[in-house]
Amino acid sequence: MPSTISRPRVRLFASLVVLTAAVVSFAPAQEWVSGIPWPTPPTVDPGPVGGPPSDALVLLGDGRDLSQWERADQWQRHDGYITVAGDPLNATKRAFGDCQLHVEWAAPAEIQGAGQQRGNSGIYLMGRYEVQILDSYNNPTYPDGQAAAIYKQNPPLVNASRKPGEWQTYDIVFEAPRFAADGKLLRPALITVLHNGVLVQNHRPIQGETSFFEPPRYRAHPAKLPLAIQFHNNPVRFRNIWIRELPPSDAPPPKK
Ligand code: MG
Repeated sequence: MPSTISRPRVRLFASLVVLTAAVVSFAPAQEWVSGIPWPTPPTVDPGPVGGPPSDALVLLGDGRDLSQWERADQWQRHDGYITVAGDPLNATKRAFGDCQLHVEWAAPAEIQGAGQQRGNSGIYLMGRYEVQILDSYNNPTYPDGQAAAIYKQNPPLVNASRKPGEWQTYDIVFEAPRFAADGKLLRPALITVLHNGVLVQNHRPIQGETSFFEPPRYRAHPAKLPLAIQFHNNPVRFRNIWIRELPPSDAPPPKK
């Protein structure tokens, strides 16, 4: 039996199908927008390489102004830097919680001692949580005690140490622990560390307060506490320490 549909009609139908598909595939998609009324981020001058940015608080510049520290008279002043001395911990006058912190330090150029006795110092966030400072250039020690370790908790991903006497940088992003009103831990502290620009701690949870004698544990404390630098009987140098207080990353976005 002959077909009731002619060939030209079949061709016309096929052409319409192809044309329709082409129009659909090239039609501009509707843009999706979140609708969240985000405020415009403030403008910050990043400053010279290494900072400080315009919104940072300089805690230690070239060593001349020590007014941000409780007992800085213990430290030794030099041209452009200080060396730590005195109490085991020396704290800032101001308290900080969530923050970005830049620190420049150098282990003594003259090598003395070995392991933990060589170029030991530390950055104590909230006066409790230590990012280890150590001369870890060809100086074996336990991995969770070497430079850029969360002391006795987590070794760095790599050893990015420079030679003793050379200036090194830590760039730290720290989120303070969260406690309930009854003191219960809601969320541990979180830390990211770049050592000389190399990522060595990637958003790691901190297990608790640093201690040489006990396992880490949390004890509830205020949302902000002073930052401290450790003196571990080694004349470690410091300069260019600046800090930026950060808004809490767990804050909800603005309401639609
Ligand atoms: Mg230390």
